[in-house]
Amino acid sequence: MKNLIAILCVAVVLAGCAGNTAEKNESSSSATLTASKNDSTSKNDLTVSDNKPVSGPVADAATILSRPQVPVLCYHHIVAGKPKNAYEVSIDNFKSQMKALADSGYHTILPDQYYNYLVHGTALPPKPVMLTYDDTDEEQFSIAKPEMDKYGFKGVYFIMTISIGRPRYMSKEQIKQLADEGHSIGSHTWRHDRVDRLKDLNTIEYRGKKIEVNEWDFQLLNTKKQLEEMTGKPVEHFAYPFGIWSKQALPKIQERGYKLAFQLSEKRDPDMPLYTVRRIIVAPGWSGEGMLKAMKSSFK
Ligand SMILES: [Zn+2]
Repeated sequence: MKNLIAILCVAVVLAGCAGNTAEKNESSSSATLTASKNDSTSKNDLTVSDNKPVSGPVADAATILSRPQVPVLCYHHIVAGKPKNAYEVSIDNFKSQMKALADSGYHTILPDQYYNYLVHGTALPPKPVMLTYDDTDEEQFSIAKPEMDKYGFKGVYFIMTISIGRPRYMSKEQIKQLADEGHSIGSHTWRHDRVDRLKDLNTIEYRGKKIEVNEWDFQLLNTKKQLEEMTGKPVEHFAYPFGIWSKQALPKIQERGYKLAFQLSEKRDPDMPLYTVRRIIVAPGWSGEGMLKAMKSSFK
């Protein structure tokens, strides 16, 4: 089992989150997302507000697709020194990127705010952006959080639950602290398995034993419950391992109580856009200004 875990960890580290890195920009309206009534509110108020459920009419898929997308950034490793692969960003670049967002007047939003905007047309703060972190890496707590704290930013952490408490990954206590401080915790499956390969019934090895499970429940529902118990808060958002999704997976995710699911930069599903929300991976070479440019071109 130890060997299996070692192999899995290496595979996960090497693979990171990305599978579909090719970017296909969707054409969507370039109308601004600002709401004038929020313009005078302070930065701190804006980043943590409007997370409550909103009642009222629910938009259909076409309306959701017509609403301008919020730029969603996807981070993995934040490293000292020079990045070695496409899923690493240097600490210096990360700091420049946070500063560039703050200096340019961006406000971080959380998934509930994005959902309310897409589904109910609720206003967002001016220049909204979402910062997401995949795979439970420890430096997302020890390096990213303090940097976000400087600017009153909040992040979204997609947790692969098998890694919790392991060396170089976040602990339960760190995840709880993130939730307590107003960051959002989402699921990134149990073991970083691709959702297009999950089966209704499959035999898996779990804690040294072979067990038969419905993998959808095991990877989506069990992780949701585990994270909810850990944080004391609802866990209603999901990120696809490797960014890979399939049409068949979308209702399975919805049925298990998730409101939004985040992919990478493929075109959104025409029928279930809430389950194919777009993100871009922050590239190792991007300065703060470079990242702002990439955001603008990818989320027109
Ligand atoms: Zn991942």
